[in-house]
Amino acid sequence: MPSDLVIVYHRQPYEEVEVDGRTVFRENKSPNGIVPTLKSFFGRFDKGAWVAWKQADDPANPDFDRVVEIDDAYGRYTVSRLPLTADQVSSFYHVTSKEAFWPILHSFKERYNYDPVDWPTFREVNWAFAEAAAAEAAEGAVVWVHDYNLWLVPGYLRTLRPDVKISFFHHTPFPSADMFNVLPWRKEILESLLACDVVGFHIPRYVSNFVSAAQSLLDVEVTARQKVEPEFAAEITALSERSVPTTLTYEGRTIAVQASPVGVDVDYIDAIARREETARRAAEIRADLGQAKMLLSVGRTDYTKGGIDQLLSYERLLESRPDLRGRVRLMHVSVPANRNMTVYENIQSDLEQMAGRINGRFGSFDWQPITLISRAIPFADLVAYYRAADVAWITPLADGMNLVCKEFVASRVDHDGVLVLSEFAGAAVEMGSALLTNPFSNRSMDSAISQALDMAPAERRDRMAALRDVVRRHDIRFWAEHQMQALTGAAGIELSHRPAA
Ligand code: UDP
Repeated sequence: MPSDLVIVYHRQPYEEVEVDGRTVFRENKSPNGIVPTLKSFFGRFDKGAWVAWKQADDPANPDFDRVVEIDDAYGRYTVSRLPLTADQVSSFYHVTSKEAFWPILHSFKERYNYDPVDWPTFREVNWAFAEAAAAEAAEGAVVWVHDYNLWLVPGYLRTLRPDVKISFFHHTPFPSADMFNVLPWRKEILESLLACDVVGFHIPRYVSNFVSAAQSLLDVEVTARQKVEPEFAAEITALSERSVPTTLTYEGRTIAVQASPVGVDVDYIDAIARREETARRAAEIRADLGQAKMLLSVGRTDYTKGGIDQLLSYERLLESRPDLRGRVRLMHVSVPANRNMTVYENIQSDLEQMAGRINGRFGSFDWQPITLISRAIPFADLVAYYRAADVAWITPLADGMNLVCKEFVASRVDHDGVLVLSEFAGAAVEMGSALLTNPFSNRSMDSAISQALDMAPAERRDRMAALRDVVRRHDIRFWAEHQMQALTGAAGIELSHRPAA
């Protein structure tokens, strides 16, 4: 039976595990993240489908079922697993997406690596995703495509199935035309995106950047724009916009562009934060700290996350404020995502070297200024650390949104704790009550962390109350509804009124 909602997302929507020699599909261990929210939309449609990839030695004869039927709490849906060889995965995902697109998306021109890109393979993989989506979609279905590694899917899908409604969401920043146009495939990518009914981004700045890139190369007209609502422009900061395009026309078609910030599952995090076990774990962490204040930094090991700059700022803090020596500790969690990529290995070793230097320079037998953790912490433990920290120090150089800062806020059921947040994280446009800092300025970084440590309890509570309010309003369901509404509005689709689970 064809599906009236097809989600195209490179990862499968469950964990596949072997039990007694049989393959079993299980809910992801940690239901944090966007996958459960996306699946919750299946409940509103008669039939849903998900398209992802799965590695196969011989894609012509994969040793798994290409399509599986799932019947779980979210409803009945099929999952199409596109068989890709290890070489195809490496080329389309690790090379083209991570070495060429990722640096440009985050405005790191100098890290852009064109040489190893095999564009025909990128096209081929995107074509296969588009074909699989076309095979699942009912007449007039909604197809929701996710992220830049599937940039060419909308264009291919439009050719295969002119009847479907296509929405595309970018989970990263979208850079300015000067930056985006470094990509030699720029026109092909933009034309594909303009085959959508809706193109979604986290914040108005990325919408504006997309429109200016499109207008730099193609005859795209902005037919409507609107003032940015105050809740998406909390303070005037680096990523602010005053107004934003909402509708475009290109070659006789109308395309809606919309900013919807991805949020976190506030109810889920709240429930973990209130568990007795979490409170006990947080108390243990605090007891270990003694009189010291705890700074917490969490992120993937990536040059965009600004880990090195943060450690340098910490070193300057300990240098300029001897009063803090022995009275502050930094827990720096930096999780490597792509273990076999040299660029990430280099960052990891730089972090280790710098942490060693700071510990050697300032530490004593009883006091270690930094604890560096380079393995993933299970989410429930992370919530205990969020609860125990005095300051969450989140200072990426570029970040599409940043969910860690929202998780920290959602975990603070005690309404205490200070958030120091980079102006260059998408989240900063909503979270103006954080201590915003510019990670490209030593002075700004140093004064923000100093101010955070000295902040009076009343100010901490006021700021946290405002942050909790925005994180709750703009939670993960708000994001999904906001994007879906853009599609239903733009394409005149009637959805059933069953709310998402
Ligand atoms: N995370 C985790 N354990 C860790 C470190 C991170 O579960 O030890 C999770 C964190 O809770 C968050 C995600 O990884 O949900 C990171 O998301 P974010 O948007 O901040 O950054 P991204 O990695 O997507 O750039």
